Amino acid sequence: MKRIIIVLFFPFVCFGQSLEEAKEFEKSITAEDLKRHLSIFASDEMEGRETGKEGQKLAAEYFTNQYLDYGIPFIDIASGYKQPYDLIERKNEGITIYINGKEYNYFNGFYSHTGMKDETLLFHSLVFSGYGIDGVKHNDVKNFDFKGKAVFILDGLPKKMEDAGWEQKLEKKVNFFEKKKASALFIISEDFKAYKNGLEKYANHNKMMLAKEYKENQIPVFITGKEMFEEVFSGQLKYKKEKKNAEKSPSKYPIEKKGTLKIVAKGNIEKLIGDNIIAYIEGTDKKEEIIVISAHYDHLGKKDGIVYNGADDDGSGSVALIEIAEAFSKAIKEKNLRPRRSIMIVAFSGEEKGLLGSKYFVNSPEFQFERCMVNLNIDMIGRIDKEHEGNPNYVYLIGPDKVSKELKEISEEINKSNTNLELDYTYNSDDDPNRYFYRSDHYNFAKYNIPVIFYFNGVHEDYHKPTDTVDKINFEKMEKITRLVFLTTWQLANKEERLKIDLKDEDGNN
Ligand SMILES: [Zn+2]
Repeated sequence: MKRIIIVLFFPFVCFGQSLEEAKEFEKSITAEDLKRHLSIFASDEMEGRETGKEGQKLAAEYFTNQYLDYGIPFIDIASGYKQPYDLIERKNEGITIYINGKEYNYFNGFYSHTGMKDETLLFHSLVFSGYGIDGVKHNDVKNFDFKGKAVFILDGLPKKMEDAGWEQKLEKKVNFFEKKKASALFIISEDFKAYKNGLEKYANHNKMMLAKEYKENQIPVFITGKEMFEEVFSGQLKYKKEKKNAEKSPSKYPIEKKGTLKIVAKGNIEKLIGDNIIAYIEGTDKKEEIIVISAHYDHLGKKDGIVYNGADDDGSGSVALIEIAEAFSKAIKEKNLRPRRSIMIVAFSGEEKGLLGSKYFVNSPEFQFERCMVNLNIDMIGRIDKEHEGNPNYVYLIGPDKVSKELKEISEEINKSNTNLELDYTYNSDDDPNRYFYRSDHYNFAKYNIPVIFYFNGVHEDYHKPTDTVDKINFEKMEKITRLVFLTTWQLANKEERLKIDLKDEDGNN
């Protein structure tokens, strides 16, 4: 018997989708599916998914195959689901610095964030310029001739200026000395040993940057310790004393001395292409407004033939995206339930190289800030940290109240009435020494005052090691967090009003 379909005429069109309806599709997000995806996604075949390399391309294929399977249509801003972007890789094949007959080797006596090309630099004019920020305030620094010289400056800021944003201050210093045409910049770290230990994992990694940000004549920047500083000024300047002076009377600087410093660098440059992967779920009556759900799918690649699987970092977030994409496409296919706002599910690459993929994405002509209502970012939700041993039922939320308090309220409501995870705000505090808020892709959205939530389970002993493998993942907990992200997205996508943005006062507080 044929079913008779009666078409009723409603006096108004109701686009709104209730959260009750979402619950049916939430069920398609399962620990079993997450495990199935991650077992492939974080396998040795994916070669650690390093940005621009073969493994990353294979991982991109994996997304493509899933999304095709779910029937998600391509959008015009991508080619297929891919948003390709150009990268430059600077290969560091060795830098040695010679001072007074002493030899300093890369990573032992200094470290470089910028890398160098094949070149030898010889300096006879050596300058110490205090904290290196005084140029903004003191005319004697502004008018000083730094051209062609090697400049040493202190890391950080003098106490009275510590309010400046931590991630911008180094950039500001570098920009200043680059503009002044200095030829090398050395930042003296208070505790180079500790600094170096924190970077051990990256020591031999090549430097990658967006091609559009690559400058042929970029000033090489080195981080070093007090030992090299005192050596280069032949003992005439002592670190402790100069630091005190720089704090008290910054106008004493810069000081210039004669000496000899030679840098011998071997390096070369390679062009690569990174890909962000975008699944776009078009909305209905509010489709011009966009919700971005993200995770980064790149990891560290392989070193000496050993694969860094990155099952937790951030294979966990990547497969969560796949499951969320499936849930939304099911809702459309099976019940014609389309969200009111559009949803962009974006897997970023380039994250481990300095949030490059998300930086490219937010600055690409295809992305319009005004349209983006919120970014929900997932990075490392598969493990349990020391603080929660024996209690997997938690997730750290970072950022939810920083731009919009309403976002935090909604997120809490959804959790309370559905998922019931313990929401831990430990790392949400502004003075969190780990600075997690700045360390994943959501930061590139928050920077432009777009509300964000960063979902995170904390670090563990396998963080950035080859032992971050799939057998150590807690999939039940991952299922809960992925469902929470899905339901929160659903609610945000269908609410009547756009999220309220809290304006910041002069002190930058909400
Ligand atoms: Zn990560």
